[in-house]
Amino acid sequence: MRPISYSRATDTATAVAAVSADPTSDFLAGGTTEIDLLRQNVLHPRRLVDINGLPLTGIETTPEGGLRIGALARMSEVAASPTVRERFPLISQALELGASAQLRHMASMGGNLLQRARCSYYRDAVSPCNKRDPGTGCSAVEGFSRGHAVLGTSEHCIATHPSDVAVALMAVDARVHTLGPQGERAYEFDDFFLPPGDSPHREHPMEHGELITAIEVPAMPLARHSLYLKVRDRESYEFALVSVAAAVSVVDGTIADVRVALGGVATKPWRARRVEDFLIGARVNRGNFAQAARVELIEARPTRMNAFKIELAQRAVVRALETLTDGDGDGDGDGGVHGDAHGDGDGSGRSPA
Ligand code: SF4
Repeated sequence: MRPISYSRATDTATAVAAVSADPTSDFLAGGTTEIDLLRQNVLHPRRLVDINGLPLTGIETTPEGGLRIGALARMSEVAASPTVRERFPLISQALELGASAQLRHMASMGGNLLQRARCSYYRDAVSPCNKRDPGTGCSAVEGFSRGHAVLGTSEHCIATHPSDVAVALMAVDARVHTLGPQGERAYEFDDFFLPPGDSPHREHPMEHGELITAIEVPAMPLARHSLYLKVRDRESYEFALVSVAAAVSVVDGTIADVRVALGGVATKPWRARRVEDFLIGARVNRGNFAQAARVELIEARPTRMNAFKIELAQRAVVRALETLTDGDGDGDGDGGVHGDAHGDGDGSGRSPA
């Protein structure tokens, strides 16, 4: 048993000051990760500052038509919001496919982004793990790695980022707003999640005591036509083997705009920019979707146990895009790439620079 002091913060600045002043302290929101890891002897804070009373629970529409989601809004509240369901169905679907109903009622949106790796070596508190105990090594590289990442990995860590909603938010260019000892900051979503490199214990750029206050989602009419597809070993209460967040706009059988992000295959929520670059201006058909997915996964680095994720991810991308564009395509059923879709002339599938 280790003693832990507990206090409740009544305003945001006080909470930030309290945690910033004590390197052994942590914020406590929904507790669905923090308490688990305390029990498993993975985290060892001596002080918890409960932030559940802070006024960070709003789900607001911005004047431009975007969203500002308070960091303490619960997953279930955001999933049920009529505005989110109508304007950003991929966000609502990702939340509903994440965790159990009980966890969704407890877990906060800010905490969801900061949830820790589900790698079993990270959570057993005794195996070598660079993320938990820097410099001790990575047990997964030569160990059990069926669920681990194939994109964005390093020799020091191959754990996947576990959040579903972070994948949807990555697809729609969200931003993370924080308050820290140095004041307010805003991070582009892609910059907020750090690849493991040689310091996998650093998962985001925030300093100790910096608190997520809100998630901003810009207006994106395209997102009204979007979905979140999750492929997993069982149909509920399971992490993704592969997931796809996608939004598409089609004009006369041609893709005018598209957003795609992948989950379950990468060390951070993965924006599939190569898919997007390939498809903008391309005809809607399975061949183009499949080629775009191949280009995205070309740099995948599997272990001996998770190579199946490469083909699974490619198929999931095709399925998500076909579902969104059903009835918009060429309808010729040839399943092939239609000539040189981008006029790049080399078949590389990359858009001209
Ligand atoms: Fe630790 Fe990452 Fe290796 Fe898992 S994959 S054992 S979290 S370093």
